[in-house]
Amino acid sequence: MHLHTCSINTATLGHRRPIEAVIEAVARHGFGGIAPWRRDLEGRSPKMVARRILDAGLGVSSFCRSTYLPAESATAFERNVEDNRRAIEAAADLGAMSFVMVVGGLPGSSKDLAGARQQVEEGCAALLEHARSLGVALALEPLHPMCAADRSCLSTLEQALDLCARLEPDGAAAAPAAGVIVDVYHCWWDPKVLEQIARAGRARRIVGFHVSDWLVPTRDLLMDRGMMGDGVIDLPLLRGAVERANYNGLVEIEIFSAGNWWTRPEDEVLATCAARMQSCC
Ligand code: ZN
Repeated sequence: MHLHTCSINTATLGHRRPIEAVIEAVARHGFGGIAPWRRDLEGRSPKMVARRILDAGLGVSSFCRSTYLPAESATAFERNVEDNRRAIEAAADLGAMSFVMVVGGLPGSSKDLAGARQQVEEGCAALLEHARSLGVALALEPLHPMCAADRSCLSTLEQALDLCARLEPDGAAAAPAAGVIVDVYHCWWDPKVLEQIARAGRARRIVGFHVSDWLVPTRDLLMDRGMMGDGVIDLPLLRGAVERANYNGLVEIEIFSAGNWWTRPEDEVLATCAARMQSCC
C-alpha cells in the first residue's frame, strides 16, 4: 500500500504535541493525510490549520469527533445538537469531507437504550441539512458493543446503514450527507461485516476506513489498541472488502494506546505505522 493513500489520526500520537508539529511529522514520514481532533484546534483558527495541512501536502481524512447526542433533558439534548453544529462548521473550515459521529450511549443513569437510539436518530436528522449545506458528511461510526453504554449505542454497520437509509431515504448522492466509517477495531468480530461492507458500497455510504489491531489479551477496552499486525484482525480481508465496495479515500490509522505506543517517540510510532501499512495491511 502506498503511504500517500494513508492518513494518521492524531490520536495515534497521543495528542502530546501541538498540531503544527504533528502535521510536519506526518508529512515528513510520507503519509498522505491527517485526521485532527477538535482538541487539536483549541485556540486556533480551523482555516489557519487547514492552510498548514494543505501546505504540508496532506489531505484531511476526517475531523474527530461529535459531542454525544443522548441527554437526560431536552435542553441538554438541544445543547449537544448545537455543539455538533459548530463542530461541523469547523470541519468545513478545516477542509474535512466528513465529521466523525461517535453518537453516545446511555445518558446519566438511564437504562433506556431504545430511547437513546431514538435521540441519536433525532439528533442526526437535526444535523443533516446543515452538514449537507457545508459539504461535510455525517460519518456514523458504529463502535464495538462493549461501548454501547458509555460511547455509542450504535454498534454495528447494519444498524448505522439502516439509520443512513432513514436519514436519506432517496439514497446517497456521489457525496453522501450520511455515511459510515468502517473501523476494523469495532467491526472485525461482526458475522455480517463483509455483507454490510458490500451493502455500504452499493449505497455509496463508506466515508472512512480506520485501521489498528485487536490484541489478545486486550488490557484496556479503550486505550489498548494494537499496531497493525500485532493482533488478530484479518486486515487484508477487510481492506479488500472496502476496496471492492469502491472506497477510494484515505486509509486512516487510529491507535489509542496509552500504555504502549503513546509512550514511544513520535518518529518511532510513525515509522512503525508506515512499515506495517506496507507489510500487514
Ligand atoms: Zn475509528
